[in-house]
Formats: sequence, structure tokens, C-alpha cells
Amino acid sequence: MTAPAVLDGPAAASLIPARGLSIRQPWGWAIARRWKPAENRSRRLPLRYAGVPVALHASKQYDGFADLPDPAAAKALGAAQGEDPLLTLGAVIAVAVFSGSHYLSGTGQNCPGSPAGPCSPWSEPCQWHWAVASVHPLAEPVPCRGALGFWPLPAAVAEAIAVQLPAITGNEKKEATA
Ligand SMILES: [Zn+2]
Repeated sequence: MTAPAVLDGPAAASLIPARGLSIRQPWGWAIARRWKPAENRSRRLPLRYAGVPVALHASKQYDGFADLPDPAAAKALGAAQGEDPLLTLGAVIAVAVFSGSHYLSGTGQNCPGSPAGPCSPWSEPCQWHWAVASVHPLAEPVPCRGALGFWPLPAAVAEAIAVQLPAITGNEKKEATA
């Protein structure tokens, strides 16, 4: 169910994103903290954004009705309030790579390749599931305005992300081999 450990993680330079994707909190946090392995969307992931780094942007609005389907994640979210920078609003909080997407119909019981049910407890019916291949949380979220769809990242924001990436990928490699 969980993604395999990144043994030889992507080089920092290959993770510099050109586009941003805005997600409401706490869902962005749940992806960035690796609880939520799929993003529910009404549309298919455009093919040109599969396998490329995207800046995960937490939009200004918090989803006050968010009901996390994983009790452990809900507990972690409670503990994270006021503590975790990845709960910042109006900032890029991580770089994510989506591998692709598939659709789960309202009557469908299973996702493709997932015979026991939806691909994750977070994956909703009547939605496209954008599979998160890897996610790289930023130590310091970068304040930024969001938009709909995949929007071009301002150069200054891309730069502020790029300077953080070598330390992030370095730590991920250490964690994977520890
Ligand atoms: Zn699915």
C-alpha cells in the first residue's frame, strides 16, 4: 500500500518544478506528510504532468469539514496544529510527482490494479485518483498565490524551492538507506 522507499532518490535538480497545483488544507498537508497517496479530482491528470515535479501549494482556505479517513492521520493532524510548517496556508509546502491517474465510478468497487477496493481509504468514488509517486516536503514553505489548474510558478518561488531541494533529497537518501 505504501510507496517503496526511495533508495536512490531523484537528484535535486530534477525536482525543480515549473508549475504549481493548489490544494486546500489539511489535504495538502496529508499528501506532503505521506498519509494521503492519491489526490481526488474531477478530471484526469493531464499526461504532460505525469512524472514531472509539481509545486504542491496550500491554498488560503482551510477545509473546516475535512474528515480524514485514517485515524492515525487524524491524530497526527491534531498534534500538528500550530506546530507543523506544512499546515501553512497560502504557500508552496512540497514538491510532488504524480505517476498518473485512474477513475473510480460511483458504482465501481475497485480501482484498477486494486482488487480489494479503492486504491486507498482517501480515494473517493466518482473521482479521478491522481497517484502520488513521490513527495518532498519543504523545510520552509514558500508564500505564494495559487490559482486553478496547473499554473506557472513565479521564478522567485521556483528559486526559493530550488535552494531547499539539495538538503531535502540528501536527507531522503539518508533515511532510505538508514
Ligand atoms: Zn484509485
